[in-house]
Amino acid sequence: MYNIILLGPPGVGKGTQGARLRDRYHIPLISMGDILREAVREGTPLGKEAKSYMDKGELVPDDVVVGIVGERLKGEDCSRGFILDGFPRTIAQAEALERLLEKEGKEITHVILLDVPEDEIIRRLSGRRLCKVCGAAYHLVFNPPKEEGRCDRCGGELYQRDDDNEETIKARLEVYHSQTTPLVEYYEKKGLLRRVDGVDTIEGIFERITRILEEGNNSPKNP
Ligand code: AMP
Repeated sequence: MYNIILLGPPGVGKGTQGARLRDRYHIPLISMGDILREAVREGTPLGKEAKSYMDKGELVPDDVVVGIVGERLKGEDCSRGFILDGFPRTIAQAEALERLLEKEGKEITHVILLDVPEDEIIRRLSGRRLCKVCGAAYHLVFNPPKEEGRCDRCGGELYQRDDDNEETIKARLEVYHSQTTPLVEYYEKKGLLRRVDGVDTIEGIFERITRILEEGNNSPKNP
C-alpha cells in the first residue's frame, strides 16, 4: 500500500507528478491547494477564510487544513492508499496527520522530496498555466499546450493562478523555507524521506519516483 506525501517547494512539480502517480496506482490524489481553491471559487465560509491567506502566500491555519484532511482521509477511496500534495506544510500538521492515521491503523509509507533550485522555481511558476476543468498543468515555454490557452487533455480553458505572481511567489518561498523545510529533517529521522532531483523531464522524474516506490515490490503496477 502506498500512503505517500509529496514534499517540496511550490512549483517543483508535486501536482504534475501526483496526477501521474494517481493514474498509475489508482489511488486518490489529495491536493490541499486544489481543495482550498475550489472552496474559494464556490465562496464557502472556508473559501472566504482561506482566500485572505492564499492571496498573501501565507499558510491557512493548521486547524483548518487538518480538519479538511481528516475528513478526506475517511473516504472509502483512501482505503487502498493515497497521495498527499501540499500537506503537511508544518510540523504541527505532520504530527496531527500521524495521529489521524494512527486512529485508523495506517501510516505514511513514503515521503518524496522534490527539489529544484530557486531561480528555476520562479521561472516555472511565473509561466505556469492550469486547466480550469481538469487541473492539468502547463508552462508557456517548457510545456506549452498544443493550442494556445486550451488544455490538450480535455479542451478546457487555461488560466494563471492568482498567487503565481512575482511578489506572492517570493512570499510562498519564504513560507516554505521557514515553516515547511523542518519537515525534511522530521521525515528523515523517521527513515521515510527520499530525495528526488526535480530538474529533468516530467517523464524522467516520474520514473525516478516509481523506481523508489516499487523497490522490493513484485507486483507494482496494479496493486
Ligand atoms: P499550493 O496549491 O499547494 O501551492 O497551495 C496554495 C496555497 O494554499 C498556499 O500558498 C497556502 O495559502 C494554501 N495551502 C495549501 N496547502 C496548505 C497547508 N497544508 N497548510 C496551510 N495552507 C495551505
